[in-house]
Amino acid sequence: MRFDERLDPLLEEIAQKIRSCNKCQLAKGRTNAVPGEGPQHATMMLVGEAPGSAEDTSGRPFIGQSGKLLTDTMTSVGIQRENVFITNIVKCRPPENRDPTDKEIGTCAPYVLSQMDSISPVVLVTLGNVSYDFFSTTFYLPKKQVGEVRGKVFRLHSTGCKFLIPTYHPAAVIYNRKLQPDFIEDLRKAERYLKVPS
Ligand code: SF4
Repeated sequence: MRFDERLDPLLEEIAQKIRSCNKCQLAKGRTNAVPGEGPQHATMMLVGEAPGSAEDTSGRPFIGQSGKLLTDTMTSVGIQRENVFITNIVKCRPPENRDPTDKEIGTCAPYVLSQMDSISPVVLVTLGNVSYDFFSTTFYLPKKQVGEVRGKVFRLHSTGCKFLIPTYHPAAVIYNRKLQPDFIEDLRKAERYLKVPS
């Protein structure tokens, strides 16, 4: 069974639009668009940058090396991956894994915002600079590098989501293992904030 088949109708409708989207140049080089996966009523949403090679091949988010580190870390702090909605800002793989351009992000961003509106998670965790940069612009948060804001908890007021917590992208943690303790601490904090009363 493809994971995406678990999507509820509202999320599946968005996923179908993503799979057939040709709105930017990244459509030309993709094998599969990667809408994201997880339950409609997920209390946590994790948003990375863009699919990599393994994700492009499979159509599923975070299943390569980075995905394994992310899933293992989530499990170690008590977060079950199947209870979380996981996606990226940009849904198609940029060539050679380059950063998505501002234009590509701007074109694709309505999809992740629709997913967020539809799910209304309690906690949104941004993974890496591209994701934090996008959401910091959207929600008027400090414009900083992720290393300066990781682990901070931002309360969101103009959305169904209550808290935004930035952390590193797991690929950065693989590249620099010194980041791993902070990465674990940030995900542990994200799990704790699921239980904070309104
Ligand atoms: S990256 Fe986003 S906007 Fe561009 S083709 Fe893929 S789904 Fe469409």
